[in-house]
Amino acid sequence: MRQRTAEALEASETRVKEHLEKLSHVARLHTMGEMASGIAHELNQPLTAISNYCQAAMQLLDGVEDVPPQVNSALKLAVAQAGRAGEIIKRLRALVSKRAIETRLIDVNQVVGNCMFLVEYDLRERGIEVVQLLSGYSIPVMADSIQLEQVVLNLLSNAMDALKDEPAMKRHVIVHTRREGKKGILEVRDTGRGITPDLLEVLFHPFFSTKPHGMGLGLSICQTIVEQYGGLISAENIPASGACFHIELPLALQAERQLT
Ligand code: ADP
Repeated sequence: MRQRTAEALEASETRVKEHLEKLSHVARLHTMGEMASGIAHELNQPLTAISNYCQAAMQLLDGVEDVPPQVNSALKLAVAQAGRAGEIIKRLRALVSKRAIETRLIDVNQVVGNCMFLVEYDLRERGIEVVQLLSGYSIPVMADSIQLEQVVLNLLSNAMDALKDEPAMKRHVIVHTRREGKKGILEVRDTGRGITPDLLEVLFHPFFSTKPHGMGLGLSICQTIVEQYGGLISAENIPASGACFHIELPLALQAERQLT
């Protein structure tokens, strides 16, 4: 009896410890979100200043003789890039900020486009080629666009990680959207090593990660979001190709006309 009580005690202590570890993960994640939001806020001002100074320089140079044409075009490019950086920051802030969920009619193709804009630089840096097979039709769904962006960004970020050790010629991500009956489908596929069958079972569990610094929360958050809108998310291993993440969401066909 004493032995059993001791075992039960030990088991419950382990559970409490695990729970505390999970909580501290969540707390860290929360702090990261706050930090990202703070940094984004701080960066906004210098970016606006850069843009203003460049525009002022362009005006000052206007009419001045012997200014090499490259100077003007370099300033113009600087303004455009500062604007782009500002846009990225705006989106990042929207992603991490605590905000009310806004469920409305959105087009999944548009969500993919927004995400591509955010990861374009990362993809280029890592030598990854993206193939976008987007449906010619809109994919209308009722959801919060920022939350869906979070899902797509997570999948893209995982795909990028999966391609890290692949040779340059084999770094591809394929994003595919289509309609299937009353469902809107979004697939993110990569040409990485794929997922072993035993891992397919646990990928979506919170805190499951095979990465040295992974939190293991990405896919679990994706699942929560997708299911919140009556959808499904699943993972599949494509032999000799890589991993494929498949999302189905109910199409908002009646409201579709409001999209245009
Ligand atoms: P994290 O990225 O922090 O590890 P996730 O929940 O996003 O957390 O992913 C959980 C695990 O699923 C990853 O650690 C990895 O083992 C596996 N995984 C996710 N996406 C892919 C992918 N595209 N290819 C191979 N494995 C993947």
